[in-house]
Amino acid sequence: MAKKDDKKGKESKYAYKKKSAWEIFTKDQIKKAFDFSIGYKKFLNDAKTEREAIEIIKETANKAKKKIILNRDKSAAIVVTGKKPINAGLRIVISHVDSPRLDLKQVPMFEDTESNLGLLETHYYGGIKNFHWVTIPLAFHGVVIKKDGKKINFKLGEKDEDPIFAVPDLLPHLSHKVQDNKKIDDAIPAESLDLMIGSQPKTGKDGKIKDAILDKLHKDYGMIEEDFISAELEIVPAYKAKDLGFDRSMIASYGQDDRACAYTVLKAIMETKDPQYTSIGLFVDKEEIGSEGNATAQVYTFLRSIIKKIDPKADIDEVMLKSKVLSADVNAAVTPNYTEVFELKNASSLGRGVVMAKFTGHGGKYSGNDASAEYVAEIRQMLNKEKIPWQTAELGKVDKGGGGTVAKYFSRLGMDVIDLGPAVMSMHSPYEVTSKVDIYATYLAYKAFLK
Ligand code: MN
Ligand code: MN
Repeated sequence: MAKKDDKKGKESKYAYKKKSAWEIFTKDQIKKAFDFSIGYKKFLNDAKTEREAIEIIKETANKAKKKIILNRDKSAAIVVTGKKPINAGLRIVISHVDSPRLDLKQVPMFEDTESNLGLLETHYYGGIKNFHWVTIPLAFHGVVIKKDGKKINFKLGEKDEDPIFAVPDLLPHLSHKVQDNKKIDDAIPAESLDLMIGSQPKTGKDGKIKDAILDKLHKDYGMIEEDFISAELEIVPAYKAKDLGFDRSMIASYGQDDRACAYTVLKAIMETKDPQYTSIGLFVDKEEIGSEGNATAQVYTFLRSIIKKIDPKADIDEVMLKSKVLSADVNAAVTPNYTEVFELKNASSLGRGVVMAKFTGHGGKYSGNDASAEYVAEIRQMLNKEKIPWQTAELGKVDKGGGGTVAKYFSRLGMDVIDLGPAVMSMHSPYEVTSKVDIYATYLAYKAFLK
């Protein structure tokens, strides 16, 4: 064993040490963090899709008479006017409201005569591991626009008395050849993620299962098969958000990437009053598929229209160049048994506070955002001044993978942007895990930034 640097064996007082949110927070703050998680879990249960999240955000803002600007029920901005003129720049915290899931194909329904089942074809959305999605209870959320243009809001599988849906898997007794010796992604190919939706045939000789299901859908919803083509039905885990652990210190739930940030941004912006700079809590869709689409972080026309609504005379370029942004998104929590993919000095763990990621991207920081030292310093000072526990991280070891957020789309507009959000264990799985103190630290950080 090497000789210690000093007699007491203590680290130098000049050394950087990882912090624990449990040590930094007072007893009272820890209690507040646990209380905060109650509303958070409710939000996770009520907002399992981007549409449901935006609906709740809209209701919350309207109830409190806050200014909210919507884009297609899939993106929203809550605006609080600041004391300084808008040309001094904005303070924006942006989160995304979509999560990885299974979508239905446009012509999804079929009857499999061999297994004697009615099934639906799915097409996954965002980064999933296929094997997570078999043999778990699943629910339908979304909308169907019928032939006559009438919209039905669809939600089935959440109430205790509701049926659930499931993707079948092969028993271990027979999986040796077809699954067990294959690569994990080949063992359960995406095309095999078909959803069981029924098994009782229509009465009469040679009655079909599919016909019976179509009859039922028509009776309950007035739907015909062609209506699936103009539907957005999302298949999500039917689990509820729950406390995790004997000590209840963690939360397990579907969709915490990125509704952990959507909820904390919502809470922070709702509590923002008379800020220095005009503050915006922004919520966008389709981050999980690269922010492509008309209600995403790449829709600069939405941002421009918001600025014009705040002040028609604003110099939009000037406003953008002077604006500061927090990209509110999650980071990867160090995972037991897989620590080799993390560079542990620069990785986030549960319970160490909100995670600041100076840069994102992959390889040599390709396709990412890299915040300036000056902006990092500003956020670091803010967090330290407010005694908010925080940590710094990058997403895995160099060249071991990587990832991005919406940060780069805002830095392109000339804004200062940095990623700030909680660490998530089992990210992109049907049951992601966060720490209650990290969620609370995240909320405090957004609030401090917006004030
Ligand atoms: Mn995310
Ligand atoms: Mn994600």
